[in-house]
Amino acid sequence: MTLPLSDMSLLRDGAYINGQWTQADDGKTLSILNPASGDEIISIASVGVNETRRAIEAADKAMADWKRLPAKSRAQILRRWFELIMEHQEDLAILMTAEQGKPLAESRGEVAYGASYVEWFGEEAKRLYGDVIPGPSEDKRIVCIKQPVGVVAAITPWNFPIAMITRKAAPALAAGCTIVIKPASETPLCALALAELAERAGIPAGVLNVVAGSAREIGGELTANATVRKLTFTGSTPIGKVLEAQCADTMKKTSMELGGNAPFIVFDDADLDSAVEGAMISKYRNAGQTCVCSNRIFVQSAIYDAFVEKLVEKASSLKVGDGMEDGIALGPLVNAKAAVDVDELVQASIASGAKVALGGGPHELGGSFYQPTVLTEVDSSMAVFRNEIFGPVAPIVRFDTEEEVIAMANDTEFGLASYFYTRDIGRVWRVGEALEYGIVGINEGIISNEMAPFGGVKESGSGREGSLYGMDDYVEIKYMLMGGL
Ligand code: ADP
Repeated sequence: MTLPLSDMSLLRDGAYINGQWTQADDGKTLSILNPASGDEIISIASVGVNETRRAIEAADKAMADWKRLPAKSRAQILRRWFELIMEHQEDLAILMTAEQGKPLAESRGEVAYGASYVEWFGEEAKRLYGDVIPGPSEDKRIVCIKQPVGVVAAITPWNFPIAMITRKAAPALAAGCTIVIKPASETPLCALALAELAERAGIPAGVLNVVAGSAREIGGELTANATVRKLTFTGSTPIGKVLEAQCADTMKKTSMELGGNAPFIVFDDADLDSAVEGAMISKYRNAGQTCVCSNRIFVQSAIYDAFVEKLVEKASSLKVGDGMEDGIALGPLVNAKAAVDVDELVQASIASGAKVALGGGPHELGGSFYQPTVLTEVDSSMAVFRNEIFGPVAPIVRFDTEEEVIAMANDTEFGLASYFYTRDIGRVWRVGEALEYGIVGINEGIISNEMAPFGGVKESGSGREGSLYGMDDYVEIKYMLMGGL
């Protein structure tokens, strides 16, 4: 399959280690498929333990010079990387839609969103301030400086093939760390293209490395290797727990962006059209495959029927198909297994009493396609209430009181994003404070941007990405006691 790229050298088939494109030692390859058609796009190097070790060694060696560069120089290089990503926005979007499936318009949006982290953290590099603290006696002062944590390992998922990498690589590089990235096996092409652009931007050999291949082998080495001082992971909660345990042996610093089970609450004083709009975007964006997608929509009794009617009307007009085609709003899921998994949750919930207001099964296009679905009369015993759906399925739960809905919203082990709609200022504060989540969207369905701290509580993980706080995960505070003054 040939892709209509204007710069074909963005399509790479090697691993990027120490500034070199290399094939696997044992010649192993990984086939990258287009989820809309099932066709192979390209096959790339699938590396293992030895190549990963070499990437870590290269990152360790490169760090000596990289961390000594003035912050302003690192900022300028990151700025150039940002500009190159934006100059190649269209090619990167095509690569993304080809390997991930999301509609081209969403891919373009993600390239810009991903690039914004590189711009932001390049600027933050210059603001890595320390503190001077009064000392415990007259002749002493306490000075705190922030230093890069060391070699960083990043393991990233397939749902945002660019943004989940730049959120990690940009603050790491800004802080003076070097990085080894393992992209998801479904979507390594965007990661490799980012590496190509990083090289063109002047990021020195060894500072940024990309190794795709066996998760177990690469992940095993990244977590066991004592040279790696920090692991940053975005993915599922079960794998996050495995990785966290693997990191314990060498006491690495970790950031974990894990699963969510976002409540989306609509109170009866809400602006109904705006709530429907917010629900549509937070539910069906990326075909429901984001960790902040609303997973349980709670609607107060008085407006329940009106909300369902409007949501069904909007969701039924979503055009499903190959994301490369014009006007497509809902692409395929990442692979056929994902569609089977989503359908299992839907069928189990229907069997326990949920009603189908729209869709309710695989799409007639077959393969990875799933129908936009709305389920009503959902309750807390059902599979769609308890599990992260990761598909275009909106389960709607009826509620009567504020107290009841807060209890239901918090009744989950997850705590990433949450949303609610109301025009009552007292309720805004009460509910905003009561939701046990890292992120709360109030009268808003889209909460991600590079200026805000993204991250979860409970089993949704730890650490924050984006904003000034996003640097904290990549630095250590060193305290120096200045005596004899
Ligand atoms: P998802 O369900 O979103 O695919 P996963 O947690 O399975 O999320 O995967 C996220 C990332 O973690 C991917 O890059 C995947 O290859 C990697 N991964 C999966 N299993 C392991 C493992 N045992 N060790 C290291 N990395 C893993």
